[in-house]
Amino acid sequence: MSRFFSEKLSALVPYTPGEQPKDMRYIKLNTNESPFPPSEKAQKMAAEAAARLHLYPDPTCSALHKALADLYGLTPDEVLCTNGSDEILNFAFMAFCDQKSPAVFADITYGFYEVFADLNGVPYQKIPLCEDFTINIEDYCHNNASVFIANPNAPTGIALKRAEIERILQANPDHVVLVDEAYVDFGAESCVPLVRKYDNLLVTQTFSKSRSMAGARLGCGIASPALIADLNTVKYSTNPYNINGMTMAAGLGVLADEAYTQKNCATIIENRAYVTAELRALGFTVLESSTNFVFAAHSGMAGSEIYRRLRENGILVRHFDNPRITAYNRITIGNRADMETLVATLRKILEEQV
Ligand code: PMP
Repeated sequence: MSRFFSEKLSALVPYTPGEQPKDMRYIKLNTNESPFPPSEKAQKMAAEAAARLHLYPDPTCSALHKALADLYGLTPDEVLCTNGSDEILNFAFMAFCDQKSPAVFADITYGFYEVFADLNGVPYQKIPLCEDFTINIEDYCHNNASVFIANPNAPTGIALKRAEIERILQANPDHVVLVDEAYVDFGAESCVPLVRKYDNLLVTQTFSKSRSMAGARLGCGIASPALIADLNTVKYSTNPYNINGMTMAAGLGVLADEAYTQKNCATIIENRAYVTAELRALGFTVLESSTNFVFAAHSGMAGSEIYRRLRENGILVRHFDNPRITAYNRITIGNRADMETLVATLRKILEEQV
């Protein structure tokens, strides 16, 4: 740390992204990317947009907002695109939380919530998940705080029903409830249909997972026009050109190719069922996942050891340095061949142990 670093940030512990090692070719199952390439329409439109990179992109993102609004039967003033959904999460902490308006989120959830709260000087309370890693709705109903909830949750993969989230929305009419739907397309119920019913609901989504665009950095928020206007105030006070022109074009391309997205999601769901069954047959505990990853532990081997042995065998998964989930690894669902290699490698590792 330099002697110039702001005192208010001196204790900040930044988010640790999943590793991207370059020492050899790995089967990468550690950052929940899609195994499928971006839609050809997205690639073509991004390439065409490259010729216009000498110009600033449209700060209002109007075409993309219109396309997203059309997809959900909403109007463009109910959506806002951002540089990955991480950016809209940060905007939400900036816009809706402060010293007087704290935040709550689960103890085991997306690690960036805590970082954004710290970055923005927001007090927060972490609510423990139940023993089986499910969420107790009542815990989120009486906090007098903004609620940040990933649905499905990460890294557990467990989803709440829309009606359960509705209960949280009803119990917190004077606070924003942010529902982070990064993984919703893999089998959970979206809260987007509730946006016109609850003026305190902000749904966030990403193009990084089901839409195969993690490298382009595109996310979005869906909420009442008033909440979107607040988020726009933050956007125009930080980075009005937050979405670059190629990403904007790629986003339009993939939204015009919904069949491709749906087909890929169906394949991931099939592969998830295969991996879940195979891992359970090997003696793993695998939580019921509604995402493009599974969270798995084995009573015969430490989570960190499984991580290490897989890495030696060219497979990267994500192990979290948190005592409550130290037995577990988060494993991204890839294509069928990679999943078969994963299962065979885990079988070999377990056999070698005895
Ligand atoms: N929310 C959750 C729960 C996530 O796991 C992620 C991905 N790391 C994000 C949000 C952010 O994704 P992105 O910024 O790529 O949209």
